Amino acid sequence: MKHARTTIIAGNWKMNYGPKRAAQFTMEILPQLNQLTHHDHNNLLCILCPPTISLETVHQLLQMSHYPHIELGAQNMYFEEQGAFTGEISPLMVHELCRNVILGHSERRMYFGETDEMVHKKTLAAFKHAIRPIVCIGENLAQYEAGQTEQVIRAQVQGALSQLPEEHLGELVIAYEPIWAIGTGKAATPDIAGNVSSFIRHLYGEMYGREAATALHILYGGSVTAANISSFIGHPDVDGALVGGASLKPDFVELVHQAAEAALL
Ligand code: PEP
Repeated sequence: MKHARTTIIAGNWKMNYGPKRAAQFTMEILPQLNQLTHHDHNNLLCILCPPTISLETVHQLLQMSHYPHIELGAQNMYFEEQGAFTGEISPLMVHELCRNVILGHSERRMYFGETDEMVHKKTLAAFKHAIRPIVCIGENLAQYEAGQTEQVIRAQVQGALSQLPEEHLGELVIAYEPIWAIGTGKAATPDIAGNVSSFIRHLYGEMYGREAATALHILYGGSVTAANISSFIGHPDVDGALVGGASLKPDFVELVHQAAEAALL
């Protein structure tokens, strides 16, 4: 086994699969996922992140099945606990169903004006309510081509992840998702994903010390498929993947299988 950190594969369904289709799809993949995550692969966690309206449906199916290595995640949440915030869901609500939440996805930043400051507040709210935050960061194409990746990553990590409570430092998951690789079919090379992940771990170490950096989970996201997942997991600083498009197909099971195998090497 390459390191002691759990390998995490999170499937971000984005705005796909309302309750009916979510139930069908979950029932289709769940028995096979369970076989993969339960037996030889205790060090693998699979997180399904359906749209908010389908969380309850998928939650019930997971509850009925008692699959310990498959968890539920929300795709977003607000940082306030309750009140007049039409259309939002609160950490208290997420906590009722989910152990995980994706925060600061580039689509939220791009289309809904989410800032590092908001992601910071949401991350603190997630910790307060025992929800594991999966915080997304990553540069866009122009920044990548201008060689500004590390600069952008540093600003995002410092902006969104400063002053975190010490007792929760080891619970954070960061997803490095270069925007140019999301939904484009052009994944980053394993070297790029690995080097940026090492940089993120180093940065986290500068902020919070070596122990916190060693515990930090870093996922790569951007056009991950069953065919390329092993090459990312092969890097010592990449602990799994945040998967968009490929998490919507039955082939997701094969992707998780490949990840589980790669994590054992
Ligand atoms: C994502 O939405 O986080 C993502 C990585 O999408 P895709 O796998 O489709 O590139």
